[in-house]
Amino acid sequence: MHEKLVKHVIFPLHEKMLGRNTYPYLKELETLQWASPDELEELRFRKLKELLRHAKQHIPFYRERFSQAGFDPEQMRDYDDFRKIPLLGKAEIRQNLAQMQWKDSPGGLTRYNTGGSSGEPLVFYYDRRRQAYDLAARAMTHRWWGADIGDKELYLWGSPLEITKQDKMKDMRDALVNDLLISAFEISPQQIPGIVEQFRKFRPKSVFGYPSTIALFCRMATAQNFRLDDIGVEVIFSAAEVLYDHQRESIGAFFGNKPVVDSYGSREGGFISHECREGNYHIMDPNYVIEFLKEGKPAALGEDGEIVITHLDTWGMPFIRYRTGDVAQAGEGKCKCGRRLGTMQNIRGRTTDFIVTPDGRWQHALSIIYVVRDIEGVDEFKIIQNDKDDITVLLKIHENLYPENGDGRIVAGFKKRMGDEVRVQIEMQDEIPRDASGKYRYVVSKVAEGGFRG
Ligand SMILES: [Zn+2]
Repeated sequence: MHEKLVKHVIFPLHEKMLGRNTYPYLKELETLQWASPDELEELRFRKLKELLRHAKQHIPFYRERFSQAGFDPEQMRDYDDFRKIPLLGKAEIRQNLAQMQWKDSPGGLTRYNTGGSSGEPLVFYYDRRRQAYDLAARAMTHRWWGADIGDKELYLWGSPLEITKQDKMKDMRDALVNDLLISAFEISPQQIPGIVEQFRKFRPKSVFGYPSTIALFCRMATAQNFRLDDIGVEVIFSAAEVLYDHQRESIGAFFGNKPVVDSYGSREGGFISHECREGNYHIMDPNYVIEFLKEGKPAALGEDGEIVITHLDTWGMPFIRYRTGDVAQAGEGKCKCGRRLGTMQNIRGRTTDFIVTPDGRWQHALSIIYVVRDIEGVDEFKIIQNDKDDITVLLKIHENLYPENGDGRIVAGFKKRMGDEVRVQIEMQDEIPRDASGKYRYVVSKVAEGGFRG
């Protein structure tokens, strides 16, 4: 499809049909990224106040919460006042889901189910306004790197969820807006020639995906003497996981020394920050209040803090002082690129792993995570692959919610994805142990840790 046609006609029409104001928001964001810090701050505080007022008025959960904390949006003068609102965790969202929604959201609410970066499953709802702002932020930051709406983008991605939803409509939509989704949920050396062929045929301007998946693809393709440094890829966007320096180097080299660009965000948290050409992670200030907290208090500059977000456009289901479980530091905010959006640095805590099936396929760990997280009453879990055909699943459950056939469904799901010869042992636990780093790794594969040797 012609790039200009997509950008000026098809994509705007598509967004309009879905009732999303993505284009006007994009215009607004593109102006605001150059605004003065004072102007940004004024806008942000005003949006925060509006969100809190709305939450008090329309969301029973927050009305109760504010009143218990002695907080009144009308009286809020500064962020010290704002911090009277207690932090919001995943467990609380699970318990109060019905009371957290704005039933009159324009265009209705959409349900979403995520594993989250901490491995605790989470269901939440979003509205069109929030979705449009997240899309606008994505479009703006892609433009920083020369990838415009309508330019060809190849998604090396895919979760079972998105693939089952990938019906004809989705295919058609992708083709219309110049996207191509290659399911790389599992990669085996046998699939590499086919994927390389799709790259060559589609000739994307940018590639988007999990860094672990893209890096594995590059490694396997290199081992088979394939090269993709001559097909016109200009930039690679990494999302949803920590991008390691060695991945940045090897992926960039594979596509002809092209920049590999990182972002930070999550399904439930939205599109939070993105790297500019100076290598700084700019925060989408017009859409967020981001806090870095150490023992509940703002961390000093240069000090680690848990990332706590308030998404200012989540009116359908507000995320107010939501704990991401990820860790980072506030940046100084000054950047040579000239943008006045705040910055963050040293982001940690989003590692995913692979599991290796008995017949040698490398599967993104999310494939088996989906099996476990689809089961009601699972609070936390950890999956350990001891050997190619030997899996242990640790579960922390709500006794009264966990179904009688829960164990059976887990075993069947694992066998379906990994092969019949896999043995799965399920152990119920009161507490799932953390790693030495304090980080919750939800899949540990002793086989994958041995490394891929091509
Ligand atoms: Zn910058």
